[in-house]
Formats: sequence, C-alpha cells, structure tokens
Amino acid sequence: MSEKIAFIGLGNMGLPMAANLLKAGHDVTGFDLAPNAKMLAETAGLKFAVSAARAVAGASIVITMLPMGKHVLSVWGEIVAELAAGTLIIDSSTIDVESARKAHELGARHDLLTLDAPVSGGTMGAQGATLTFMAGGAEAAFLRAQPVLAQMGKRAVHCGGPGAGQAAKICNNMILGISMAGVAEAFVLGEKLGLSHQALFDVASTSSGQCWALTTNCPVPGPVPASPANREYRPGFATALMLKDLKLSQEAALAAGAASPMGAQAAALYALFEKQGHGGDDFSAIINFFRGITT
Ligand code: NAD
Repeated sequence: MSEKIAFIGLGNMGLPMAANLLKAGHDVTGFDLAPNAKMLAETAGLKFAVSAARAVAGASIVITMLPMGKHVLSVWGEIVAELAAGTLIIDSSTIDVESARKAHELGARHDLLTLDAPVSGGTMGAQGATLTFMAGGAEAAFLRAQPVLAQMGKRAVHCGGPGAGQAAKICNNMILGISMAGVAEAFVLGEKLGLSHQALFDVASTSSGQCWALTTNCPVPGPVPASPANREYRPGFATALMLKDLKLSQEAALAAGAASPMGAQAAALYALFEKQGHGGDDFSAIINFFRGITT
C-alpha cells in the first residue's frame, strides 16, 4: 500500500532511507535544515518542503532521523499538532532513553501512534535497505510500522514499550564498544608476544574469544579482508558515533542506577582517541591507541 510519508532529517542515514521508501512506491516529502539538503533531496527524486510542518501536511507516516534528543523533541514539538489522530510517527535517530520517552508522551497527547526505532547497520545498511530496527512502543504502532521498516531494513525487533528500542540500541553498542576494545588490546598483546595476527585470529575466531568485533570488523588488516583495518580505518562505524552511543549508555546507567564500569572505561578510551583527532576513523582504529600511536 502506498503511503504519504514525511521524512525529516536527510543526512547520511536519512537520505538513503527516504530514497528506499520512494523506490518502494511511496509518496515521500523530505525536510532538513542543511543548506544543500534541498539539492540532495531533489537529486534523489524526493519532494522537499520548506519546513517540517509543511513536510508533514497530509502525511500518513512521519519518520525523523536526527542527531540528538533535543533535535527530535524540537521537531516533534513542531509537528505533532499538525498530524491527524492515528498517524504513525517513528523516530529512528539514536537518542537518550529519556528524550525518547518524552517524544512518545508528546505523540500520545495528540493520539498518534509512536515508535522509537533506532537502527544498526550504518550508512551501507541505509543505502542497501539492510538495516536492523530496534523498536519501542505499542504493539499497534509496531504492526503499522512493519511494512515500511521492511522497505528500509532486513529486520525489525519489537523490544517493548516506549524507549525500549533506544535501550536495546545503547546496550548493544555498549557490548560492541567494550568488545572491540578487548579484541584490540588482545591483538596488541599478541604482537608483543610475537604472535601473528592470522594465528590469533584463527584461534580466537573459532574459540571463546569469538565476537563480531573480531570476525567481521577485525581491527588488524589481513584476516577479514572487508574490515575497515584494510582500508586505513575508513568507516564503517566512526569513533565519534561509537563515543556518542557509549555516552548515552553511561547516562542511562547513571539514571537507572546500573553498575557500568566496563562501559565507562570504553567511553573514556574512545573519548581520548577522539581527542587525538580520530573521530572520523572507524572505531576499530582504537587498536592504535593501545599501540601508543597518537598520530
Ligand atoms: P547526519 O548528521 O548526517 O544527519 C542528521 C541530519 O539532521 C542533518 O542533515 C541535519 O541537518 C538534520 N537536522 C538537524 N536538526 C534538524 C532539524 N531541526 N530539522 C531538520 N533537520 C535537522 O547524521 P546521520 O549519520 O544521518 O545520523 C542520524 C542519526 O542516526 C543519529 O542519531 C545517529 O546517531 C544515528 N545513526 C547513525 C549511523 C551512521 O552510521 N551514520 C548509524 C546508526 C545510527
């Protein structure tokens, strides 16, 4: 069924996601504050509105893909009153759980169906429509969203009520940040002990050290030819984004009273690495931090 979709936030992720919805046959109108957004949107074949409020006029589904919680709350605050009761509004940004819950409350005041549905899969996943969505909100909102999520991704998991998608996302990425730091640390120890990268990989990838950070995003060149280490750590998943997610998980741990010493350590490591000028490198480049390389 063709929907009238408004897509707010046409950045690295939002633009290809909106383009996939267009390809799937929907009527898509975009909006973004960036000066070149109109040109990029129109090049991708999307309609472009002069404001978020104008973009959502008559929309049956609205999707936001924005940097942080404050942007989401500001945009949702601007548009919720413009939407007819029952309209589905999905936020796919990665934001703090508290802001996500506030966004649901805003929507509920206007009888909207609301979903927090952050993604994993990065810009390649956004382009190839292979994202994984982690959704939080009412069952009815999830069921209504499923067809469009399937046109932008390969998997959508309903994680629970409002904010549960964001909670799943930051917990997953906390595991990833910690495990990458562990894998990188182990490779550097192996180097010092005279162990070849391939030997350590062959053992750990088939033993209890096995994890995504090792088998898919291996921080040394060679064993996994597609990993960013083979292309001078071009992302992939940038250090700055990993740091953002680790900070979100630390905020959430503090608010929930959860002990998170490993997450705190990983957040500190990536913060130092970013300060050294590596925010744009794939997060697996953290291995150079353990090697003591600062350039
Ligand atoms: P981006 O910075 O490329 O895009 C965000 C866009 O939002 C920008 O174009 C910006 O101009 C626009 N924007 C900001 N405020 C706005 C407003 N008030 N109204 C309209 N537009 C506004 O970021 P991105 O890489 O596309 O990421 C978007 C979200 O997805 C972030 O929350 C990020 O953490 C998350 N995410 C990104 C990746 C990735 O690999 N890039 C992966 C997973 C999740």
